[in-house]
Amino acid sequence: GVGDVRVLLLENVNKTAVDILTNAGFQVEHHTKALSEEELIEKIKDVHAIGIRSKTKLTANILQHAHKLLVIGCFCIGTNQVDLDFAAQRGIPVFNSPFSNSRSVAEMVLSNVISLARQIGDRSREMHEGNWFKVSSRCYEIRGKNLGIVGYGHIGSQLSVLAESMGMNVYFYDVLQMMPLGTSRPLKSLEELLQISDFVTLHVPETPETKRMISERELNMMKKGSYLINASRGTVVDIPALASALRSGHLGGCAVDVYPKEPFSNGPYFESELIGCPNTILTPHIGGSTEEAQTLIGQEVATAISRFVSVGTTLNAVNYPQVDLRAIPATKAMVMRLVNAHHNVPGVLGQINNILAPYNVEKQVCDNKGAISYFMADLSIGGTDDIQAIYNDISSIGENIITRVLY
Ligand code: NAD
Repeated sequence: GVGDVRVLLLENVNKTAVDILTNAGFQVEHHTKALSEEELIEKIKDVHAIGIRSKTKLTANILQHAHKLLVIGCFCIGTNQVDLDFAAQRGIPVFNSPFSNSRSVAEMVLSNVISLARQIGDRSREMHEGNWFKVSSRCYEIRGKNLGIVGYGHIGSQLSVLAESMGMNVYFYDVLQMMPLGTSRPLKSLEELLQISDFVTLHVPETPETKRMISERELNMMKKGSYLINASRGTVVDIPALASALRSGHLGGCAVDVYPKEPFSNGPYFESELIGCPNTILTPHIGGSTEEAQTLIGQEVATAISRFVSVGTTLNAVNYPQVDLRAIPATKAMVMRLVNAHHNVPGVLGQINNILAPYNVEKQVCDNKGAISYFMADLSIGGTDDIQAIYNDISSIGENIITRVLY
């Protein structure tokens, strides 16, 4: 029953998550800090679900003690802290929340656009140094200016709407054909976008194609006095080339939130060729860091954990086949849901379906990712004896990793 499901939440995961998992009927243990490796190994032995952020490392060494663990929730964007393959081999899906902070990033970029146009960063620094320099030369409104968005995904498209409402002309370039929002206009090439834009803002993922996508050649194509904003990934821009474009006065300024190398912890660890460049706004990778984003992350990951435990859905799992079946209403009493993870080798589905042959399979689905296959089915059965029999037969298949009966 759900009341037996034990959830361990570490690293002060957002309260929304605690509420969702508690309301789902699970026993939730909530810690504000990460645990030491020994404490973690001790605790992880008994729990069915664990929620972490970026500090907790779920290595194979730790996961091998997790005998009851069904699911891992990363209440953050990245999942590098988890041994994803090892977890999958154990039948454990890993969920995260990659898009919950899109709005936060888009809002910060819009603030960058205005701040660059008005040289707010430089004026603020001068004032903190006791210097009053009132200037209007080369300060602009953003109304009627061209914004070029590179990458029109979750963040780029959100920004498109915000910028248009401020009176900007929005252009974008994406490798995929994307639906233009509002009056924004798609362009056929990056080059065209660079030539037309007063502001260029980057919202592409980190891929081999986007590595140093903006280098000396591209910076030279940008209009004289235009601005560059990068809140995507640090590797997308060639930083020394950007610094010299700023120092030469070719660019009117830049705002940078992400860097090729970022410090692991807070403190006096930041080094960059951009320090001291004119009209250059530097922020420590805070584009997505808001209370609202934390709440949304809490909701999304807690819901994914709860749905996986109770109905078996793996949609948006990062290391696992993505499988979903609509749930049968509770009023249909003699239906059971079977979920099974098995090694992805020939013949297993045949064995499963032989076992299920005497029953009416209402619906079933199976998909695989790498070495793992995940199977879900709803069956009409005669009575509770059937449940035990089916469970025993399926879980004794040689390639079985984990079998569960959910309702
Ligand atoms: P997304 O996947 O929703 O959108 C990315 C878009 O870029 C897609 O539409 C894709 O087709 C397009 N694209 C991929 N390669 C391209 C190329 N070579 N040229 C042009 N377009 C290309 O991603 P998102 O959620 O909008 O995030 C965008 C970036 O922002 C990512 O790099 C992400 O890591 C970063 N991000 C930063 C912060 C922060 O705190 N600064 C927070 C969240 C996300």
